[in-house]
Amino acid sequence: MTVPGIIWLTRDFRLHDNPALLAAIADGPLVPVFFIDQLTMAQGAASRWRLVRALKAFDRSLRARTGGKGITVLRGEADEILPGLMELLGARRLHQTDWPTPEMRTLQDRVRERLRPLDARLIQHRGHLLVDPGKIRTGNGDPYRVYSPFARAVRRLGPDRPAPDAPARISAFPQPPEGLDLNTLNLAPDLHRGRAALEKFATPAGEDAALARLDEFLDRARDYPGGRDRPDLEATSGLSEHLALGEISPRTLWARAMLRAEMSPEQDAGICKFLSEVIWREFSWYLLVEFPNLPSACWRREWEEFPWRKDGADLIRWQRAQTGVALVDAGLRQMWLTGRMHNRVRMVVASWLTKHLLIDWRAGLAHFADCLTDWDPAANAMNWQWVAGCGPDAAPYFRIFNPDKQAEQYDPQGEYRRRWLAGFDVSANPDAAAWMESTPRAWHAGRWRAGPPSMLTEGREAALAALAHFRAATSEN
Ligand SMILES: Cc1cc2nc3c(=O)[nH]c(=O)nc-3n(C[C@H](O)[C@H](O)[C@H](O)COP(=O)(O)OP(=O)(O)OC[C@H]3O[C@@H](n4cnc5c(N)ncnc54)[C@H](O)[C@@H]3O)c2cc1C
Repeated sequence: MTVPGIIWLTRDFRLHDNPALLAAIADGPLVPVFFIDQLTMAQGAASRWRLVRALKAFDRSLRARTGGKGITVLRGEADEILPGLMELLGARRLHQTDWPTPEMRTLQDRVRERLRPLDARLIQHRGHLLVDPGKIRTGNGDPYRVYSPFARAVRRLGPDRPAPDAPARISAFPQPPEGLDLNTLNLAPDLHRGRAALEKFATPAGEDAALARLDEFLDRARDYPGGRDRPDLEATSGLSEHLALGEISPRTLWARAMLRAEMSPEQDAGICKFLSEVIWREFSWYLLVEFPNLPSACWRREWEEFPWRKDGADLIRWQRAQTGVALVDAGLRQMWLTGRMHNRVRMVVASWLTKHLLIDWRAGLAHFADCLTDWDPAANAMNWQWVAGCGPDAAPYFRIFNPDKQAEQYDPQGEYRRRWLAGFDVSANPDAAAWMESTPRAWHAGRWRAGPPSMLTEGREAALAALAHFRAATSEN
């Protein structure tokens, strides 16, 4: 009997630098499986919508190499289905690219336990990160808690080399009939009116698109350091969705960027800055591996005592991009419509929620997780904690962004705000009008209106007063 090579796909939808795929191919005719399980369905709506696009694109790539056999998509739990499937096919090895979230760790343990009686095992492969987090330790053997020395350690160790590409022809096993049809698969029925908007603003999905985007970015990397904070310019790479879905590996990205820096010295400084941002991604995953409750608990434990507000009308107005603060509402509208938001604006939007409105960072994290197509559990958690001031190496709480000053500095002509806010001139702003069309009717989304300027000073004073009170209370304990 021919034994197949099984890969349990998670977030590794690529043919380049995919050691798990290569190992499965080496085992025998390929069986690529993906589970629509509780973990998948617990993700935010926009992220599930983007996941289907990644599945479709990778399915097409595989079919082109296998003579028409694609991904088997099954509804159910991996630990319940995989043992039976492996027994049926006579497989003893199951390959997976490690996606080291705490929930995946629990699931991996359950799968391992169920495979043991079959004398079968789960083999995890690297590729989601630049370097094995276990290798990065301070001189004392402790985990790093601060970005700069961590980044130096990553550069010193050097990222692992990308694995060779998958072969041009792949032998694959016939697909079982119980697999779901990707053409009709809808994992995000809860998007409602938001679906049309996401489809309209979507950028191409898949590995080919990711590689092309990287190349195109590297051609203009010299403008990155000066332009990366400007939401009115297209100065960043736009690769986060591809990285989040594993349509490109960070090791491939690193290797290609380094090669380009060597060949085109004029791009070198820009590429170096870009790679330090990629190391921020690495740092966020490192922190998640070391501190698995990063998405749910304040990393500095005492911050659990901070008088965070949990909900209320202010949170709803923020979620609905109706705070009355131009840059904040523009960013939240961009995210609602496109699934993306510029990094500088993410910081300002998060700061407004956690500081001016004193609302718990976890409420913001959950809203981002629901709306972002580049949702990444580690980057989202680290950055929310960073802005809120309760995370490792975080911005101190008293550093409070003034959104109007940020807007003057980073959107000097108001182009970004004009693009997303209908209050300026709807007829000249089709994107702003698209936001109004895409929102649920219950929101009563009308023309955008600025709030009173006093909001800025009052919110800042309230945040500083809360901080002073919190400091006094925690130093008494
Ligand atoms: C509150 C908040 C929430 C965030 N949530 C997410 C998220 O869910 N998913 C996500 O991918 N990024 C998140 N980020 C980080 C950052 O905003 C995005 O990675 C970036 O905007 C993506 O655009 P780009 O690919 O053009 O970035 P580029 O500037 O081209 O950067 C290249 C890559 O580096 C990584 N990167 C850049 N900045 C950061 C950062 N601050 N932290 C971690 N990695 C970074 C990303 O993988 C990015 O694709 C968040 C930031 C904040 C402030």
